[in-house]
Amino acid sequence: MTKPLWAPWRLEYVQQADETPGCVFCAEAAGELAEEDSLLVWRGEAALVVLNKFPYSSGHLMAAPVRHVGSLVDLTEAEALEIHRLSIAAITALDAVYGPDGFNLGWNLGRAAGAGITDHAHLHVVPRWSGDTNFMPVLADVKVLPEHLLATRDRLRDAWR
Ligand SMILES: [Zn+2]
Repeated sequence: MTKPLWAPWRLEYVQQADETPGCVFCAEAAGELAEEDSLLVWRGEAALVVLNKFPYSSGHLMAAPVRHVGSLVDLTEAEALEIHRLSIAAITALDAVYGPDGFNLGWNLGRAAGAGITDHAHLHVVPRWSGDTNFMPVLADVKVLPEHLLATRDRLRDAWR
């Protein structure tokens, strides 16, 4: 029997499908969101890091180019480099704040691959804990309070370097 590929961020589509008018990455990049709505953790030159609103687990981050571009193929060298640098900084910050047991990093390109936002490419950085492999934590986290997300955002902002 083949083992199914583990991909928690596939749930993103179900949860965000009727939720997002416009592009959340572009809104964050432009600083258009109010402080209490923004889940921006870090904004760099060509890329930014945003906390996932519907996390698989606490501290589920997404690194994306500042530019609205849907395909990995269309990223510039500078964008690709900064996204990877920021994903490393995200791991460092998550380690400092939450000390997870591991991480999953992944790109979902296209709806069929589980992408919730198909026209603005983003790299998921998902902290993992031993024993969190069933889907109960997903359902629990969906009901997470906005205050909780903002507290997570602030903790990660403080830990960022
Ligand atoms: Zn966008």
